[in-house]
Amino acid sequence: MERVVLVRYGEIGLKRANRAAFVAQLARNLRAALPGVRVENRFDHLVLRDAHAPWVLERLQRTFGVVSASPALEVAPQLDAMEAAAQVLVAEVAPRPGTTFKVETHRRDKTFPLTSPEVDRELGRRLQAHFPQLVARMKDPEVHLRVDIRDRAYVYTQVHPGPRGLPVGTGGRAVALLSGGIDSPVAIWTVAKRGVQVTPLHFHAPPFTSERSKEKVVRLVEVLSEWCGPMDLWVVPFAHVQRAIRERVAEPLWTVTLRRIMMRVAERVAQRVGAPALVTGESLGQVASQTLEAMAAIGAATRLLVLRPLVGMDKLEITRLAQRIGTYEVSVLPYEDCCTLFVPRRPRTRPTLQEVEEAEASLDVPGLVEEALAGVEVISPAAPAPAGA
Ligand code: ATP
Ligand code: MG
Repeated sequence: MERVVLVRYGEIGLKRANRAAFVAQLARNLRAALPGVRVENRFDHLVLRDAHAPWVLERLQRTFGVVSASPALEVAPQLDAMEAAAQVLVAEVAPRPGTTFKVETHRRDKTFPLTSPEVDRELGRRLQAHFPQLVARMKDPEVHLRVDIRDRAYVYTQVHPGPRGLPVGTGGRAVALLSGGIDSPVAIWTVAKRGVQVTPLHFHAPPFTSERSKEKVVRLVEVLSEWCGPMDLWVVPFAHVQRAIRERVAEPLWTVTLRRIMMRVAERVAQRVGAPALVTGESLGQVASQTLEAMAAIGAATRLLVLRPLVGMDKLEITRLAQRIGTYEVSVLPYEDCCTLFVPRRPRTRPTLQEVEEAEASLDVPGLVEEALAGVEVISPAAPAPAGA
């Protein structure tokens, strides 16, 4: 009898050819996230061995592609062995007189001599003989004993839901513009959930912004790594761009001009890491720079695909998600990001591309982009330490 963890995966509509790649990537991601644990690929599920650490389930609940996980006892596919495993699990819940229970069997191995209902009945009968205090109940039993019969049999009582989605790495790569705010970390999480490997890019503006504001972004990347795996954070200095814009561009167009230069720098970073897409945390109508016209003008600065996964979400939905992901409490730390010091008093909410391009003509855009890239710093935040380790 061996204690294992069963991991179920799968996404409705996943095509056959993609399936093998999906499972292989999920297994790789789990090996990286669960040091010391053996990951076995078995037909339609994964079996984890040596997975006794308390943080294993926590990690599984943050690994995209996992539908659910169950700590289970693996035994030979024979009634006596299943009975012994079931006894162990029932004893663990210390049943009192009247504790309700149910056995539910799935027989994937159709060569097994008994049908599923027959196994339910026989195991139920044997368990009650051993634990006379048990009472059978089909609806909402306190102890729901599940038995999966395959080439081995798995007996378990718990099913922990995973985050679903696609394993990170199956969906290509994107560069994400990560501020210290609430939205962009959620945007990263959202595309990572669809299998995209994200390279976060942050613009910081010393001396207008402090070292602490950069540390805050590093911390955000650390929290996101618990979901997305390790990520390198690219940090680019941007104070010179802000200075040039303040000097030469009419105040209402500051934000859109700044964002367009960010997109150009991001495009160059994307070329370096081989990414065909950019990601931002923009959400329609949230602030002056997030109208359709402003987004169109910003998007026109790059030929790359720009993903705005939060575009249709309101602030409350985004905030709730940030809380669930764990980035919210970091995002609300007070350290200013470069743009809060750079907010025009009366921003132009519906800029035309033509007026933005005219405003930009007074700037040496290629020079500003090169200067930003020359100051690139790539930070590899520490891999998340297992909780409780
Ligand atoms: P967030 O909460 O992500 O900061 P926001 O609602 O504050 O978003 P803006 O400040 O208008 O919106 O920024 C829009 C998007 O531009 C951000 O979601 C982010 O993708 C990008 N961005 C803004 N500032 C920076 C920065 N300093 N570094 C990198 N990206 C940034
Ligand atoms: Mg912001």
